[in-house]
Amino acid sequence: MTPHVNPSFSELFGHPAQVVVHAPGRVNLIGEHTDYNGGFVLPMAIPQQTHVELRRRDDTRVRVFSANKSQGGAPSEYTLGQEATGQGWLDYVQGVTFVLQREGHRLSGVDVRLSSEVPLGSGLSSSASLDVALLRALRTAFSLPLDDVQLGLLGQRVETDFVGAPVGVMDPMAASMAGLGEALFLDTRSMNLERVPLPPGVDVVIINSGVAHNHSSGDYRVRRAECEKACALLGIQELRDLPESELARTETLPDPLGRRARHVVTENARVLATVQALRAGDLERLGQLFYASHDSQRLDYEVSVPEIDLLVDLAREDADVYGARLTGGGFGGSVVMLARDGTGAAVARRICERYAARSGQRPTILLPQPTGA
Ligand code: ADP
Ligand code: MG
Repeated sequence: MTPHVNPSFSELFGHPAQVVVHAPGRVNLIGEHTDYNGGFVLPMAIPQQTHVELRRRDDTRVRVFSANKSQGGAPSEYTLGQEATGQGWLDYVQGVTFVLQREGHRLSGVDVRLSSEVPLGSGLSSSASLDVALLRALRTAFSLPLDDVQLGLLGQRVETDFVGAPVGVMDPMAASMAGLGEALFLDTRSMNLERVPLPPGVDVVIINSGVAHNHSSGDYRVRRAECEKACALLGIQELRDLPESELARTETLPDPLGRRARHVVTENARVLATVQALRAGDLERLGQLFYASHDSQRLDYEVSVPEIDLLVDLAREDADVYGARLTGGGFGGSVVMLARDGTGAAVARRICERYAARSGQRPTILLPQPTGA
């Protein structure tokens, strides 16, 4: 790697960084499209992270270099207090300084270098890991009195109030609060959270399909609007208010609203069942719940794509896999699988080979991480 392609902080800015922090991407084990419906989610941190190096400046300039986006180029710049959307990836950075200042936190200009191992736009939440990593860096640099829950909530505001992506609270809360090897069971209505360790005897596999999505684009908004419409017709505040025992009420809704509501109601129930199965170490049950969640996303919520379905079908044919499902917002992205103890690496390799041959896509394996890399 030449310094010109990927320069260090000192090469970029002429002095060393003062703060070096990171925040992870996440994989959602189950509970998809439930967070903006007041429901339950179950994300887990992944080893891939966004790294932020930062140094305070004496003026109000913000200079930002992204190793993922600025290749070969100069840092992007803006002035604190003059954040303006329409600058692509820089909007996420501007959003962070925008929401902090709006909350009354005093900042000065900064020099920032970003680099991420989380694939961008692959359902593993590179954006929230960037939001939270930068919030962490600024919290340290300016001694901001913010705890990790507040950081997660601010991360959501960055995207909803500035970037213009109507995301739920799961991704930034996961980036701020989740750990490796344990699921974060979050009730997005009460914000109550519990850590649920993964049982022994299971390998988590994550495969990026190579088909990128874009959250802020139309389909995600359409799904949110459909949920709101369903609530209005049912006379409830949020789909969370419809218990599974009243699932039949979704049949009174016009298509596709009935199917959208059915996904959310049954998905909430599947999160609760998954937490129970994790605690009981019931791997077969976990696998069934994963496949059921995938089918619900495919048929009722209609957020899958043929490439993702192919990955899940290949998992179904594999004797070492308990279950698999689309993870993240959908319309592309990644699949999460549960495989028999010790088989994860081999499972991931053979499914990727078959998938690449049949789809023409270039998949990548995020978990298990290749050893010796
Ligand atoms: P996801 O969060 O699932 O990866 P999003 O569409 O929500 O997908 O966010 C991806 C966008 O976030 C990128 O297109 C880019 O604008 C921004 N982003 C994420 N990570 C970085 C990074 N390391 N450098 C610059 N921009 C980034
Ligand atoms: Mg995102």
